Amino acid sequence: MLRIAVVGSGPSGVYAAQALVGQSSVPDVRVHILDRLPCPYGLVRYGVAPDHEKIKSLQNNLRAVLEDDRIDFLGNVEVGARGLGPRRLLELYHAVVYCIGAARDRRLGIPGEDLPGSHSATDFVSWYSAHPDAAPDAFALGARTAVVIGVGNVAVDVARILARGADELRGTDVPEGALEALAASRVREVHIVGRRGPSGAKFTTKELRELGALPSADVLVDPADLALETAYADPAAVPALVRRNLTVVREWADRPPQGRPRRLHVRFFLRPVELLEQGGRVGGVRFERTAPDGSGGVRGTGVYEEIEAQLVLRAVGYRGVPMEGLPFDAERGVVPNSAGRVLRDGAFSPGEYVAGWIKRGPNGVIGTNRPCAKETVNALLEDAAVLGRRQVAADPEAELRAAGHRPVRWRGWLAIEEAEAALGHTLGRPRVKIPDWAGLLGAAQGAAGAGGPEGAGGPGEGAR
Ligand code: NAP
Repeated sequence: MLRIAVVGSGPSGVYAAQALVGQSSVPDVRVHILDRLPCPYGLVRYGVAPDHEKIKSLQNNLRAVLEDDRIDFLGNVEVGARGLGPRRLLELYHAVVYCIGAARDRRLGIPGEDLPGSHSATDFVSWYSAHPDAAPDAFALGARTAVVIGVGNVAVDVARILARGADELRGTDVPEGALEALAASRVREVHIVGRRGPSGAKFTTKELRELGALPSADVLVDPADLALETAYADPAAVPALVRRNLTVVREWADRPPQGRPRRLHVRFFLRPVELLEQGGRVGGVRFERTAPDGSGGVRGTGVYEEIEAQLVLRAVGYRGVPMEGLPFDAERGVVPNSAGRVLRDGAFSPGEYVAGWIKRGPNGVIGTNRPCAKETVNALLEDAAVLGRRQVAADPEAELRAAGHRPVRWRGWLAIEEAEAALGHTLGRPRVKIPDWAGLLGAAQGAAGAGGPEGAGGPGEGAR
């Protein structure tokens, strides 16, 4: 039998587990999916916006994988804590696949970035997604004007949530505290600002179009911003996705505002140079106007523009975080690897693999993780004969418990889901997410007939 640990239960971790049990070259594979959180699904639960129900429903596919008898979900187990580092994991499992994503935001590196009122978009996403590490009262939304820096899909997500009325989100699982804050929000103007032109934006057309269909916000594009866009001269020369995006923003530039309560300004060719302070908080953003440099990038023009803002969300991408005991390429924010095999000083480290964003960087859509995980698993299977000869613990879960970990097993997670459904019922809403550790662990503990203190079943009991 090959015992494999997959670290992280987001899409890449679940797809890796699926590929491991779905293959036929190694007959008996058992997988433990370890996650720091008591809840599975990673960014599908804590990153996909609450109003993107269709993408969220992907959880049903991931659930079907996690219910496979050969796969055990062990939540509330933090790799890197209680002596459970990469070295220890290799004593417990024949192989470990790290699917730990890219947990931090990239920095702008400009003055004023850390002023109160300036936040990473990932913090805002965590807050409205009820991530238990986010303070439930982190965002009061007293600002009148918000600036979102960056024109990727995260920027579009956070701008859309700011621009929606709370009533539009009542039917989602957004936590009650965030819903109340959004209902009381004073934000009326939202600026999404890209340093390049629309042809250099990273958002996808479907997500972009959604902004134009918001019932309570007008989308405004300044034709002057588009005048600089060279791709209009020869649209046939740009990829289809870019062409579609250009069509959408051009339509918006021609559309008169409808007098809706909020206004969403989509701006281009503005590079942030400083966050301006007012009364000890952020009061605005200073931008330098840019222009195409003739080789696909932009150059500064020495002309500056300020946009007032009491709230700034920096949506300039994620970056991987080093894990102690694993090699790390600080420049790319990934674990060095070859087709998923972890490289230590350029040489393959037997038994250690990576998949997902920590392998290739924070790009692509959820589905991109499936072939990415498959490639890693194929590498692992090629190494199976060597891996099978490694001496490992007979019962890794018992070892985890002995070290003080209190895994939340599948049954505990189902109890959390039930508690969230019950919370929604009490509030007259559909399922509502529990936003804090105590609430999540308390709900997991309530798992009917659980043998362990965390709704987990005792060691070796095989309780799911
Ligand atoms: P992203 O797609 O990499 O976009 C980052 C944006 O920030 C780009 O516009 C980038 O501009 C800009 N930027 C970077 N550094 C900057 C700086 N110093 N100053 C100003 N602007 C800067 O990152 P993301 O939006 O965080 O998304 C991460 C991944 O998740 C993407 O693959 C995305 O598609 C995916 N995602 C998908 C969905 C969905 O499908 N609905 C939702 C959310 C996220 P430059 O291009 O000029 O560098």
